[in-house]
Amino acid sequence: MILPGNILYGLCALLALCGAVDDSGVGAGSCNPAADVRREGSISRSVSEVSTRTSKGAAARQTVYRATDPPPKHDDERLAKSGIQKYTSKRLQLYTDIAPDQARPLPELMDHAFEAWTEYFGPLPPDREGTEFVMTGYLMADKALFREAGLLPEDLPPFPHGRNKGTRFWLNDQPTPYYRRHLLLHEGTHCFMTSVRHPFLKDVWYMEGMAELFGTHRFEADGRPRFRVLPHDREQFANLGRIRLVEDEVRQKGPRELTSILRLVPNDFLSNPAYAWSWALCQFLDGHPRYHESFQAMGRVVTTGDKTTDQQKLFGTNRADLDEEWLLFAAVLCHGIDQTRAAIDFRPGKLLNGDQPAKVEIVADRGWQSTGVLIDKGKKYQVTATGRVVIANAPQRPEGASRREGNQPVATSALDRPWESEPQGISFRYHAGRPLGMLVGTVRTSPPPEVAPQTTMLDVFPIGREATFTAATTGTLYLRLNDDWSELADNAGKVEVQTRSAPMR
Ligand SMILES: [Zn+2]
Repeated sequence: MILPGNILYGLCALLALCGAVDDSGVGAGSCNPAADVRREGSISRSVSEVSTRTSKGAAARQTVYRATDPPPKHDDERLAKSGIQKYTSKRLQLYTDIAPDQARPLPELMDHAFEAWTEYFGPLPPDREGTEFVMTGYLMADKALFREAGLLPEDLPPFPHGRNKGTRFWLNDQPTPYYRRHLLLHEGTHCFMTSVRHPFLKDVWYMEGMAELFGTHRFEADGRPRFRVLPHDREQFANLGRIRLVEDEVRQKGPRELTSILRLVPNDFLSNPAYAWSWALCQFLDGHPRYHESFQAMGRVVTTGDKTTDQQKLFGTNRADLDEEWLLFAAVLCHGIDQTRAAIDFRPGKLLNGDQPAKVEIVADRGWQSTGVLIDKGKKYQVTATGRVVIANAPQRPEGASRREGNQPVATSALDRPWESEPQGISFRYHAGRPLGMLVGTVRTSPPPEVAPQTTMLDVFPIGREATFTAATTGTLYLRLNDDWSELADNAGKVEVQTRSAPMR
């Protein structure tokens, strides 16, 4: 089968994009949808078969098989003499020339990842031979060594990070242990997700986003790895840089629309931001309390190969809410963003009842909350707020603040207590240019604007204790107490807010 040359090969060249071309029909090992579409014939023959009709003529049932792709056999003794050691676990045989103490934990990590994939996507179906699913990895510090040993296939195109082909993958060693493990898990996820032919192989955002999602990991206190975590700081996720890529683009151009990510094509993955945005969308859907379940259910197709599954279940209902909340997430994506508390209950507002004020409580430990008030373009409104909240329980000390005064520790300093705030906020720490704890507002129009960004909720205005404003647009008023999106969990309390019509003057 003729396969595209430069485009396909170039695609994988920038960041851990795998998808070595494989004519054999063994192992649908590509994260490149173009390759999969072109190989459709051989893949479908290799991984699924249609059973014959039953005697009663019931509908044909499809039996799905995993591609048979047994691990290659090498002369391990000869390789060891040349400096390439083998490390094995149940699911991975790893050939590498990196230091033994760095290499030894990696196969077991992959076994844990296999359990996590199985739990998330469901168990892989058997192959026709009844063999176990075992991956083979080549982690290379000195690539020439592997070439001389014949472990780098001639037709394997150049790659700066990693590539996979069926259950095999090749990785260049990385400067930090975190990123080495991350790319190993990324490639392993491709090996798993491409074992069965399924409809989402053509969705690059999903294939790459999920590989990145499972690549993002940390270790629990008991040493067990956890996958699909949101990076909480830069240091522990050294060299990852995806949140930074999104932040930079948001600063320059605003957040990308969800539709534009769903439409990413293989060529877009010539540059790293496509990985960052694909990951961010998968993280948003996986971490969102309202979408998590249907997003995971959608992923079952990776092991069932169910051709009738589509993304409509996830993307069909309340699509407007999904699109808009995605934009709000992408706009403020940061290390440790608290997705659960940032999730929005989109409760549409109603017009005020004459001079009656509308009352609502705004809690400190959530993101945007509907006031239930529909404000009318051109009309004047007054919002007043009262109450005290805790805006941080274990606050980070401001730059330069000392824990000691003279020889005495300042145990009872104001800085060591929970920070209490009234609706005007506190004056010694800021978020997004406004005092922490300040009551801020935004208006959600319905329908959203047709031009990007397709939400009005990125326009935030200060309210504090009291504000009077003329509505620039018709929509529901949302409020929140200003705080870093990663620091909502240690907030407590609420403020009482009244919204009323103000006399037009
Ligand atoms: Zn990839």
